[in-house]
Amino acid sequence: MTGPPGRELRGLGDGDVRRLPDPVLGLRCRDVDPMDLAVFVLAEAMVGLMRSSPACVGVAAPQVGQAWRLFVLDVTGHRKARSQHGLVVLCNPVVIEHAGSEVAREGCLSVPDLTGDVPRATSVVVSGTEPGTGQTRVLEADAFEARALQHEIDHLAGLLFLDRVRAPAGVHTRTRYAGPTLAADPAGWRGARVVER
Ligand SMILES: [Zn+2]
Repeated sequence: MTGPPGRELRGLGDGDVRRLPDPVLGLRCRDVDPMDLAVFVLAEAMVGLMRSSPACVGVAAPQVGQAWRLFVLDVTGHRKARSQHGLVVLCNPVVIEHAGSEVAREGCLSVPDLTGDVPRATSVVVSGTEPGTGQTRVLEADAFEARALQHEIDHLAGLLFLDRVRAPAGVHTRTRYAGPTLAADPAGWRGARVVER
């Protein structure tokens, strides 16, 4: 986002997504003020990006170039989800409890050509603050929602799912990647990569 906070309310599109090896993805993000209008505006734009990206269940601020501790997430209706809290938008989130461990496949908007087998806790309790209201929110999540929360919170520490994969054999090339703008934007066809193994 550029320009004075709150002045420029524009959407985020596929072209705003930072991809590996963009250095912003490796930064430790800084805490934000949940009552800062700029944080609220960015969060709204991130929700729009998430909603417009097929199969996308979460976006963290560094993925759109802002090294802030802020993410949005919604796993509603996902086939692997058990707990479902609907739209979750949190500033300065922390995992305050975790239990269990399971390895499962993950992907990421910022790593479009790869997936990985990533160990994660199977249940977590996450606390954070909602932008706009400043209210503290505590979520108990399991299964896919717990995994997605850990993935997003990792982004805020400069970690990608690739950093959690235990061995090279745990990284997989996507056989097909349909870019989020593939259908809507003719340029997306040129930008999208089709990778066969
Ligand atoms: Zn990600």
